[in-house]
Amino acid sequence: MTAKIRKFLEECHPDTPCLVVDLDVVAQRFRDLRRALPRAEIYYAMKANPAREVVSLLHSLGAYFDTASIYEIEACLDVGVGPDRIAFGNTVKKQRDIVRAYEYGVRLFAFDSRAELSKLASAAPGADVYCRVFMDGAGSDWPLSRKFGCEPAQAAGMLEEAGRAGLVPAGVSFHVGSQQRDPRQWDVAIKQCAAIFDELSTRGVELSLLNIGGGFPASYRQPIDSVDVYGVEIRDAMVRHFGNRSPRIIAEPGRYIAGDAGIIQTEVVLVAEKSREPDKRWIFLDIGKFGGLPETFEEAIQYRITTPHDGSPGGPVVLAGPTCDEVDVLYAAAGYTLPLDLTAGDRIEIHSAGAYTATYSAVGFNGFPPLSEYYI
Ligand SMILES: *Cc1c(COP(=O)(O)O)cnc(C)c1O
Repeated sequence: MTAKIRKFLEECHPDTPCLVVDLDVVAQRFRDLRRALPRAEIYYAMKANPAREVVSLLHSLGAYFDTASIYEIEACLDVGVGPDRIAFGNTVKKQRDIVRAYEYGVRLFAFDSRAELSKLASAAPGADVYCRVFMDGAGSDWPLSRKFGCEPAQAAGMLEEAGRAGLVPAGVSFHVGSQQRDPRQWDVAIKQCAAIFDELSTRGVELSLLNIGGGFPASYRQPIDSVDVYGVEIRDAMVRHFGNRSPRIIAEPGRYIAGDAGIIQTEVVLVAEKSREPDKRWIFLDIGKFGGLPETFEEAIQYRITTPHDGSPGGPVVLAGPTCDEVDVLYAAAGYTLPLDLTAGDRIEIHSAGAYTATYSAVGFNGFPPLSEYYI
């Protein structure tokens, strides 16, 4: 936890649960990634944390923005981001939203199907488009593989078609899966993309853009490499597969920029001993899956947790949220242990919780209000 967050929690003692984000960390992460990937334009994936404070800070640092909806586009424009710095990166868009984005001046769009391509051709004539190719998400804790991307073999044909339909076939994109702990996965993807560039080149279409997606990790329970290691792997892969004719590169970090900047403070509501598993205490918190922690689904994202009793003897626990839904259990199998002294009323911290939390919290399930947020 940063000194700034610690001071804020001590002095303001906000109601729990709450998310506190240190904007200095957001800025630092942005600079670290820019240093690791000096040739890439950094498009912040807004969905990770779309708070106005975060967007406007990143805008002031020279970021571009990857958006998923017309609402995110409008939120960017609202803080003064120019439309030339915004990509409409969702491959699933309503036609009327494409029209609106185009009217605002947005000229960079993603697609991964023929049907989406024809929407773009009629709603965004002359715009730059890139085709998202499928990656299997191997090595990542939160794969984004099932829903998005076409087979690499389809990409060349669709990009060629884009050109015939009056669009600019700009390039190719991929996402190696979120919280990607294996930096070598980019090599696999970049190799596939280079083959698409080559294939199109033989058909007389020269692509100019490679979008290497997000996936850069935050610091959860499992160890991760520094972003510089990712930078080296990606730069080496570019040289291996593109030689000295590297296209323009776009990266779309979300989790990496916002994750480590935030802490959730939560209160223990109940410590219960259940007779079925006598030596495993159930710790109920005032935040759960519906309060902003849905990434604990299948215990995929395992947050670091600290308590005021750390250092004293501990034991195994099941961690659960406060709502009356059976699925509102955070961790039962992941092997969490917490101090035996932990009691109701204790405040504990969930670390690296700045991404994919606040906007995921339910509006009022069981009457619990959405997670409150502080940006300092
Ligand atoms: C979610 C998403 C990102 C951000 O992914 P992270 O793993 O948070 O870095 C980037 N690009 C696209 C297209 C996305 O959908």
